[in-house]
Amino acid sequence: MLNIILLGPPGAGKGTQAARLQANRGMIQLSTGDMLREAVAAGTPVGLKAKAIMERGELVSDAIVSALIGERLDASAGKGAIFDGFPRTGHQAEALEILLAQRGRKLDYVIELAVDEEALVTRITGRFTCAKCGAGYHDTFRPTKVEGVCDVCGSTEFKRRPDDNEQTVRTRMEEYRAKTAPILPYYERKGLVHRVDGMAGVDEVGAAIDAILDGGA
Ligand code: ADP
Ligand code: ADP
Ligand code: ZN
Repeated sequence: MLNIILLGPPGAGKGTQAARLQANRGMIQLSTGDMLREAVAAGTPVGLKAKAIMERGELVSDAIVSALIGERLDASAGKGAIFDGFPRTGHQAEALEILLAQRGRKLDYVIELAVDEEALVTRITGRFTCAKCGAGYHDTFRPTKVEGVCDVCGSTEFKRRPDDNEQTVRTRMEEYRAKTAPILPYYERKGLVHRVDGMAGVDEVGAAIDAILDGGA
């Protein structure tokens, strides 16, 4: 049972690869972004606090996101977890270590998706998802097979995130550079980091991740 972190800036492909691992390996995707968007949609106290922060592209508090992960972590017991978009700060990395240790679990890999920044804007502004099943697409890089119809569930309703605009993306990249990238050396010292070329195609990136998890790379 593997517990892994997918680390990379907004648009690097974390959600896409997490969904793939969940489908192929029965691991559980734990995305704090998805959890926060659910909280916003449901109008919970957490959602009310997070909404404006997310719209600005800034980070929600460590306490909130660490609590969300704590609530959902047990769902991945015995299956393995893919942490997608968490941790994003040093405090969150510490919180994760404690949450895992309390359950007799540990991190196996930190997979860094390396991408060049200008490509991220194109990826983010073309991103959309199925409104019914959540499957992820891109206008240019990952269109639906039949225009306007979800490959997975056949729905014809799609949505775009309010924070997926160029201006907010710039703020999100700044947050990544300032607060998230600095946690990489911490994991490097533990020998956990594996770097993957996130500019390759979705399937190639997936194959590179598989090679790491299967112990080859
Ligand atoms: P993240 O979760 O890291 O923010 P996503 O997985 O949502 O990123 O990917 C952002 C957008 O880029 C999506 O529209 C997705 O379909 C597309 N995408 C993901 N991986 C690739 C890739 N390797 N090449 C081209 N486009 C990609
Ligand atoms: P991205 O496409 O940037 O990877 P996410 O879906 O992971 O987007 O996150 C969307 C927004 O939700 C972030 O810009 C931030 O406001 C908030 N968020 C998600 N995860 C975290 C986290 N671990 N810590 C703080 N804020 C978070
Ligand atoms: Zn669908």
